[in-house]
Amino acid sequence: MSTVPSFWSPRIAALEPYVPGEQPRIAKLVKLNTNENPFGPSPQVFDAIEWAASEGLERYPDPESVALREAIAARQGLHCSQVFAGNGSDEVLAHAFFAFFQQAEPLLIPDITYSFYRVYAQLYGIACELLPVDEGLRIDIPAMAARAAAGCAGVVIANPNAPTGIGLPLDAIERLLAACRQRVVLVDEAYVDFGGESALPLIDRHPNLLVVQTLSKSRSLAGLRVGFACGQAHLIEALQRVKNSFNSYPLDRLASAGAIAALEDEAWFAHTRHEVMDIREGLTLQLEDLDFEVLPSQANFLFVRHPAHDAAALAAALRARAVLVRHFDRPRIAQYLRISIGTRDQCSALVDALADILG
Ligand code: PMP
Repeated sequence: MSTVPSFWSPRIAALEPYVPGEQPRIAKLVKLNTNENPFGPSPQVFDAIEWAASEGLERYPDPESVALREAIAARQGLHCSQVFAGNGSDEVLAHAFFAFFQQAEPLLIPDITYSFYRVYAQLYGIACELLPVDEGLRIDIPAMAARAAAGCAGVVIANPNAPTGIGLPLDAIERLLAACRQRVVLVDEAYVDFGGESALPLIDRHPNLLVVQTLSKSRSLAGLRVGFACGQAHLIEALQRVKNSFNSYPLDRLASAGAIAALEDEAWFAHTRHEVMDIREGLTLQLEDLDFEVLPSQANFLFVRHPAHDAAALAAALRARAVLVRHFDRPRIAQYLRISIGTRDQCSALVDALADILG
């Protein structure tokens, strides 16, 4: 937009409008661009939603989402007071930024990471200091810990990182927690179930640790919008206060019922996430056969580049063949493509299309 309406707050003018290009309304696409899980949720989710609907929808849902928070807490050996639930982990992250990072010092994030962290920071007027990842796109933990120890508003890390898929061991997280005792270290574990190491067992020992997870990826429930945060009760209370002050909606009755059913179906969870990891390993080898460099991934996507082909051109050529992958026109990663793990058939279609394009 060229002119900004005078009615807008100045900070709104600086926000980039969301371009819904990654969710085109075209049938029969091989859609490997937004890290959805192609296997769908546990069949029990649909029964639970139907049952919840049959109970009636005329009443508001539980403002505290207690049943869902108890279900999450029980799985992790936590208490309900250590769990916060929100409409997707994006909402949880936004509340956490508001609750913890509006401080005098800057918030520390890696320069290559989930792009929404900077959006939330901008939204709430939080200054960010971007710490450079190394040439292998790995987060430099000693540098980050040293910078954190010198004073900061907090640290946000995605583990595994997005869009690289590279995971960090728990001792790296512990190092950050120790360096940043007065502020929150937020670990976004959106992709942790695909081979990463969760920081949830560290919560009892670290009053400054907030772990955020989602049901969008490993539970294949992106359409239901359920995310959660776990941490000691004083952190969860802050999130609850923000949510109440914004008068944000609690999870609706159908989403809560579906999420609980998804959490209970351990067999479906185990089967589908192993399937994703197995397909990921196979696709890695196939892409390497086509001369792609594939970063080691602990997520449901691969971050790849080709030594001889421009990434934007490859993404466009794939799109012309009805295969969607993600290209980021950003410094340092403009030569990479992010490819979500699809079904075996979808991945074969991708490899065939790439073989065709590369000749
Ligand atoms: N964190 C990361 C690192 C992500 O990639 C995403 C989704 N793209 C999210 C959080 C948000 O996921 P959701 O709101 O669906 O829970």
